[in-house]
Amino acid sequence: MMKSKTYSEKIKKLKKEVNIKIKITHEFKDPGNGSIGTRTTSKDFESLPRRIFIRIGKLITREDFEKILLPGVNAYNYGKYEEAIKFFKDIINICPKVEEEIHPYIEICNRVIATKKNEEDIAYEESVSKWLKKPIIIQKLFKGSAPIFKIRCKYCGHYTPCIDPMSGVAYLGLNNCEICGRGYPVPDHAWDSIDGQAYIYYRHSVTEEEFYKEFEDKYEVNPDHTYFLKSK
Ligand SMILES: [Zn+2]
Repeated sequence: MMKSKTYSEKIKKLKKEVNIKIKITHEFKDPGNGSIGTRTTSKDFESLPRRIFIRIGKLITREDFEKILLPGVNAYNYGKYEEAIKFFKDIINICPKVEEEIHPYIEICNRVIATKKNEEDIAYEESVSKWLKKPIIIQKLFKGSAPIFKIRCKYCGHYTPCIDPMSGVAYLGLNNCEICGRGYPVPDHAWDSIDGQAYIYYRHSVTEEEFYKEFEDKYEVNPDHTYFLKSK
C-alpha cells in the first residue's frame, strides 16, 4: 500500500505547482480558431484584446463577464485601482482559473495601492476635488482652467498626465511617466495582459531594462527578447 503523503510533502508539491511559470514563446495561439500566430506582427497586435476576452469568456458565464469582469476592466483602464481589484477578486472567487489571465492587473493594482501618495499626489487630488465642487456652469465656462487629467502610473504609483497607451512612442519619450520615466504608464487591460506584455517584450517597445527582467522573472521565456532582432 502506498504511504499517504505527509503534510510537508503536500506543501512542497503545491509550492512547485505555484512556481511553475507560464511558458511564453515567439508564437501565440488564437483561442478563437486555434491558429498559431507570430508575436509582434499586426495579427498579434490586432487580435490582442479579443484573445483575452475569448479565453476568459470560456471560463465564466456571460452574466459574470458583463457584471463583474467588464466593470473591473473598465475601472482598471481608468486608473481606479481600488475599485478594479474588488471586481477582480470577486471574479476569482467565482472562477479561480481566471486568475491566470488577470493576475498581471492584480499585481499592478496592488503595487499602486501600496504606494504611499506624496505631497504632489495629494495636492493633485485636492485640486481635482476642488474643481469638481464648482457649479457645473462654471466648469463648462472655464473648461480650460480644469486640472489636467492625471492617472496613477502603473509602475511608480504616482500621478502622471494620462496619455493614451496607443499614442506617442515611449522610445522617443512621448509616452512616459513624468515621475519615473517608464514607458506607457497608463494601465490598459490589453497591453498589461500576458500576451500584451509578450508583444512589448519581443517588439522591444520600451527602453527600460527592468521591463525585460521583470518579464523573464515572471514567465518562462523561450526564445528570449532578442529573437526577432536576430532573425531580421
Ligand atoms: Zn511612474
